[in-house]
Amino acid sequence: MSKYDLLKKHFGYDLFRNGQESVIDNILSKRDVFAIMPTGGGKSLCYQLPALMNEGVAIVISPLIALMKDQADALVENGVKATYLNSSLSAAETNIRINEIMRGEHKLIYVAPERLLTDSFFNLIKTVNISLIAVDEAHCISQWGHDFRPSYRNIPRFIARLEKRPVIAAFTATATEHVVNEIKEILKLNNPFELITGFDRENLFYKIVKPKDKYKYLKDYIDKGFTDGSGIIYCSTRKTVESLSKRLKEDGFLAEGYHGGMETEVRTQVQDAFMLDEAKIIIATNAFGMGIDKPDVRFVIHYNMPKNMEAYYQEAGRAGRDGKSSDCILIYSPSDIVKQKLIIAQNMMEREREQLQLTNLQILVNYCHTNDCLRKEILEYFGETTGKNNCASCGNCQNDSEFIDMTVESQKALSCIYRTNQRFGVNVIIQVLRGSKSKKIIDWNLNKVSTYGIIQDVSEGGLRELIMNLIARGFVRMTVDNYPVLKLNESSRAVLKGEEKILLRKERVEVKDKKKSKQIRKADFDFNQALYDLLSLKRKEIATEKKMPPYVIFHNTVLEELAYSMPTKKEELLKIKGIGEKKFDNYGEAFINVIEDFKAESAVI
Ligand code: ADP
Repeated sequence: MSKYDLLKKHFGYDLFRNGQESVIDNILSKRDVFAIMPTGGGKSLCYQLPALMNEGVAIVISPLIALMKDQADALVENGVKATYLNSSLSAAETNIRINEIMRGEHKLIYVAPERLLTDSFFNLIKTVNISLIAVDEAHCISQWGHDFRPSYRNIPRFIARLEKRPVIAAFTATATEHVVNEIKEILKLNNPFELITGFDRENLFYKIVKPKDKYKYLKDYIDKGFTDGSGIIYCSTRKTVESLSKRLKEDGFLAEGYHGGMETEVRTQVQDAFMLDEAKIIIATNAFGMGIDKPDVRFVIHYNMPKNMEAYYQEAGRAGRDGKSSDCILIYSPSDIVKQKLIIAQNMMEREREQLQLTNLQILVNYCHTNDCLRKEILEYFGETTGKNNCASCGNCQNDSEFIDMTVESQKALSCIYRTNQRFGVNVIIQVLRGSKSKKIIDWNLNKVSTYGIIQDVSEGGLRELIMNLIARGFVRMTVDNYPVLKLNESSRAVLKGEEKILLRKERVEVKDKKKSKQIRKADFDFNQALYDLLSLKRKEIATEKKMPPYVIFHNTVLEELAYSMPTKKEELLKIKGIGEKKFDNYGEAFINVIEDFKAESAVI
């Protein structure tokens, strides 16, 4: 049977997708292959079809046990003889499978890398004719990649032990230079045919949002924009997965949580419920998804920012495998940068590796602050040029809100960085520019520099947005460190000289009306206005929910006190006039959460 007949018979497709046919042809002509295709690009077919056509059996090395079962089951459904060997099988089941393999009954064997060097597997393999070794998720072999798995290093040793070296085909969705070189080198690919298919997924709509209330945004989005198919919401911690799934369930959504700390059995149940459409929304850590190929995922929302662009693109890429329009929304919040930096710091790795991870994180942070086409930014990161500055189908290209000219403010900010000797991070620079009277600023004599207090009419959040935008566009450099400081560079000069205009979306920078801001009631002490606004928002949310006027929850003076002393412990809150035991029990935690988030955000950058 020809490859086209087999494509139709076993997979039900009439045509190959971009790149698939050339990979298949090369494998069939016994040449090694190295294929980089985006998630959802159709990598599996590239080794499954040759496995069917070749004499002997193909070994597929794959990192996830759950994935193996799904893939093997799907092949059997399609009339392809496939099996898998991994630790989820009992001794009796394993023996049955081994006997089937020895009798030559299978065309594909899925196996975990841990098993490759065991004597039992090796003795088995000696009895069969291996037609191909397919290495799925090949980036797991690379120390530089985002998903390094030491057991992948067994693969070259396994291959070296074989009497006859079969064709080797490696597949990944990760295309950064470092990773690509490492994969080729470690696997010792022999003059491989290399394929990089376009990374663009035209049906995916990318968007960055920065809502004040993340949960509200999420709920509104799901309420409005989601009728068919399913959705995935990624969070950075197990704790967030649990609290968010609880909340969504309480609000009546068919949602389930998934993370690595859950019992295997429960995880399988959740995954099955998702595949069968019994759970429409999965809230998960990055433990969920490798190999999940549900075609009708209509949205992937990142509730927290992931660790880098590769991880982001891989996770977001799980949307819209069926080619229909789907959303990839990243909810940006500066406190996520803190979380990611903490994770990097806790991992205690070599300096060089840590720097690389911080740089990679910064690339994603810059992505969140660009005014440019998001599709273009992603593709350029993966080394592709689009030639287009406007894709007309991403959050930035479709945003027709007004720009305002922030060149003068940018010049003031750059000048402030210079006057303070390029020794401080974003947070301190903002405080100096806004003339903060905080103890730190006074103690360090920063109230004496000429740029102290020269920006009064832009909110703290607006100034942060401006500076992050300058970093994203390369007009300021942020050092790669756990405590990064801002430095000027050659490009800063163009802004200082007025050769470069800095435009920002009006919605992102709240510029206060000067007259109005003067009317703001002055409290007796210097509380933090930005935090006050957030607390007030939380109060409004609770008040609306309880159908009560806001002041019944807390008086303004209580919010001012909270925005001044920023307490996060029960005993500290109880000291504030207007917060008794009862009030604390009712609202304490909600307000502490706001304060903790705010503190984390201010410490970030
Ligand atoms: P990857 O491993 O690259 O992430 P998969 O191999 O899981 O992607 O394929 C993604 C989806 O595309 C699957 O649902 C698969 O059935 C489908 N697919 C693969 N090849 C074709 C093709 N030639 N025509 C139509 N759909 C295809």
